[in-house]
Amino acid sequence: MTATAPSVDQIVNGVPQHRRLVTTVPGPRSLELLGRREATVARGVSVMLPAFIERAGGAVLVDVDGNHLIDLGSGIAVTGVGHGARRVVAAVAEQAASFTHTCFMINPYEGYVAVAEALARLTPGDHEKRSVLLSSGAEGIENAVKIARSYTRRSAVVVFEHGYHGRTNLTMALTAKDMPYKHGFGPFAPEVYRAPLSYPFRDGLTGEQAVARAIEAIEEQVDVDDVAAIVIEPIQGEGGFIVPAPGFLSGLAAWARANGVVFVADEVQTGFARTGAMFASEHEGVVPDLIVTAKGIAGGMPLSAVTGRAEIMDAPHVGGLGGTYGGNPVACAAALATIATIEEDGLVDRAAALGATITARLRAVQEQQPAIGDLRGRGAMIAVELVRPGTTDPDPLAAVAVARACHEQGVVVLTCGTYGNVLRLLPPFVIGEELLADALDVLSAALLALGRP
Ligand SMILES: *Cc1c(COP(=O)(O)O)cnc(C)c1O
Repeated sequence: MTATAPSVDQIVNGVPQHRRLVTTVPGPRSLELLGRREATVARGVSVMLPAFIERAGGAVLVDVDGNHLIDLGSGIAVTGVGHGARRVVAAVAEQAASFTHTCFMINPYEGYVAVAEALARLTPGDHEKRSVLLSSGAEGIENAVKIARSYTRRSAVVVFEHGYHGRTNLTMALTAKDMPYKHGFGPFAPEVYRAPLSYPFRDGLTGEQAVARAIEAIEEQVDVDDVAAIVIEPIQGEGGFIVPAPGFLSGLAAWARANGVVFVADEVQTGFARTGAMFASEHEGVVPDLIVTAKGIAGGMPLSAVTGRAEIMDAPHVGGLGGTYGGNPVACAAALATIATIEEDGLVDRAAALGATITARLRAVQEQQPAIGDLRGRGAMIAVELVRPGTTDPDPLAAVAVARACHEQGVVVLTCGTYGNVLRLLPPFVIGEELLADALDVLSAALLALGRP
C-alpha cells in the first residue's frame, strides 16, 4: 500500500483483500459442481469462469476450493460498492427480517418511495420527475418503450449498431448482435430501426459527422413522425465500451427534442458512479427524457428503474405499469444503502481515480504491444480492444487468450464487443491500490505475452 492510497479495509466481509491460489482454477470441488451443473442447468446459460463462489468481500471472490480471486468484473458492473458492503448487508438483513414482499401495487411501503426520491435527486436535470421500479434491466427498457409509446402515441423505436438492451423479445429486437443474444430466437418485435453509432476507433468521424450520418440513416428508414423513442447507451457496454465522439449524444438528443421523440438513455451498465460520474450522460451534458437504471443500483439485489419527465412518465393509465416483484422491499433497502455508500464514501471520485490508474498502467503496455488497437473508457469502465498488429482487424482469439491467462492466475476479467475482441474492466470502486496493482500486473503480463511464442 502506497502512502497516498486511500484507506481501504484489508478484510471485508471476512475476506482478506489479496489474491491467493491454492489449486488450479477451477479446482477439484468446482469441477465436481460443474459436472452437476452440466447435468441439470440448461446449456444456453453459459459460464465464463467455472470457479464456483462460496463467499465474497470487497474486490475478492473466494471459490469452493479456497482460491481468492480478484474481481475486475463486479458481476457485470453490479457490485460497484464491493461484495459484502457493510451498509448493504445490514439493510438487506434488516428488511428481510421485517418483510420480504407485499407487492407495491397491493400494499405500498416507504422504501419504494424513498428510492424514487433518490432517483429524482440523482439523475440529470432538475425538472419534475417520476419513477417506476422493476426487477431487471431488460424490464426497465421494455417499460421505457411502453411509456414513450403511450406518451407520443407513436410506435417506432430507433436504436444503434453495437447496442445491447437485454434478452426479452422486445429487447432482443433492440439489441444489435445476433450471436449469442438473438440467434434462432425470432421473430422479434416490429417497428425497430437501427442507426449507425459513433465509434471513433473504427469510423474516425467527429461527433457532428456521426450525428449527421445517424440522422440520415434514421430518416431514410422511417417517418420521423412515427418515432416514439431513441434508445441509446451513453457508452455501449456489451458492444465494446464504445465512447462516442464528443457531440454525438448531445446532437442526437437535440434531434430528438426537435422532432418530439423521447430520448431514452440506457444507463443500466453505465449508471451509479461507474464512469466517474453518477450517470454517464453527465459527461456530455445530456439530460435524457427517460433514464433506465439497473445493475449498479442495488449492490447485487435485482432492481431496475425508469426515471424521467413527469409528463412522460405519467402518460400511461392507472394500472398500466407494474409487476409482481417490481421495487421489491429488500431490493429497495439495498438500493438506499448502495446510494448512501456511493455518496458517503465518495465513490464517484474513486471510480474516476481508478480509471486514471488503470489507463496509465495499460497505456505503458500499449506502447510495447501493437495488438492493443485501442484503450478507452471512462472511470471504472475501461476496455482494451485487440487487433492484428498494424491493422484494425479484430482479434477475438487474442482477447480469449488474455482472459484465460488472467483467469488461470486468479484475476476475473470479462470480454465483450461486437467482434468479441475487447477485454473489459469493471472493478468494484472499493478495490485497494495494492490489489488493483497486483491484478494489473497479471493483466499486463498476459497482454505482453500476446504474439510471443
Ligand atoms: C445488462 C444490460 C441490460 C439488461 O439488463 P438485465 O438486468 O440483464 O435484463 C440492458 N442494457 C444494458 C446497457 C445492459 O448492460
